[in-house]
Amino acid sequence: MKVFDAHCDVLWKMWENKGLSFKDSEDLHVTWDGLKQGDARVQCFAVYVPEKVKKESVFHVALEMIDIFYEKILRRFPNMRLVTTKKEISGLKQGQIGAILTLEGCDAIGTDLEKLRTLYRLGVTSVGLTWNHANAVADGILEERGAGLSSFGREVVRMNNEYFIWTDVSHLSVRGFWDVMETGDFVIASHSNCKAVCANPRNLSNDQIQALIQKNAAIGVTFVPQFLAEGTETTIIDIIRHIEHYCSLGAENNIGFGSDFDGIDHTVHGLGKYEDYFNLVNSLLKYYSETTVKGFMFNNFFSRFPR
Ligand SMILES: [Zn+2]
Repeated sequence: MKVFDAHCDVLWKMWENKGLSFKDSEDLHVTWDGLKQGDARVQCFAVYVPEKVKKESVFHVALEMIDIFYEKILRRFPNMRLVTTKKEISGLKQGQIGAILTLEGCDAIGTDLEKLRTLYRLGVTSVGLTWNHANAVADGILEERGAGLSSFGREVVRMNNEYFIWTDVSHLSVRGFWDVMETGDFVIASHSNCKAVCANPRNLSNDQIQALIQKNAAIGVTFVPQFLAEGTETTIIDIIRHIEHYCSLGAENNIGFGSDFDGIDHTVHGLGKYEDYFNLVNSLLKYYSETTVKGFMFNNFFSRFPR
């Protein structure tokens, strides 16, 4: 069953370790071989600039990661196709996999809208406003101040609207989240689980989930063990507990997946790398109809792509 995965950090890993091969490296969760085996249809590739990078270099590092995306992924694997519209996704031929470029945190653009437009032109079609801390756009969820969108942040969201770009609320502060609910036209939560199931600050409250449903947003259930369950080892059943909770609030047609592969040190038992997606599909088919599972795996994100 074809898969749309709304978040992975393989570009960051390949930037940290320039020797890794996207073909089949053992040190990567997402590889070309793995995507093929796991029946990938669309994979989102996040540009995440780590916080250790000095402010004056963040935009440059974002460009280096985009260069890795073009040189080591798209150029090397011609069947991996950059997709920036729904039409391009529907037009993918047998054997081709769509690649969506996304930004995880607006730190990279500083306070320059022209930098953001440059990223759009390089192919970015989804913009996460923050990582865990503060930037010029808003506070992240672990920033104690807990501020919402700045005036500049509102301009960023309005520009996303104007250019038909997703505004991604994963990692954003609670106040920032509610500000985006007011300002954003095309909202997603690419990799976020339920607070009612696992009380991690990165997870969404029931009110937030209901607001996302109202906004017609897609929500990516993520495989980050700390966001799935407290302590102990996590399994696919923990993922299904989050899906059940989302469904109980009416999100059955909003749910998708944002694995966070290559952004995590520990993985869910039975879901250690991309090619294990079929284990998840098989488990889901025990509990949900095929149509519903197809929605989770692909359609719920695909149908909301804003361009
Ligand atoms: Zn993340």
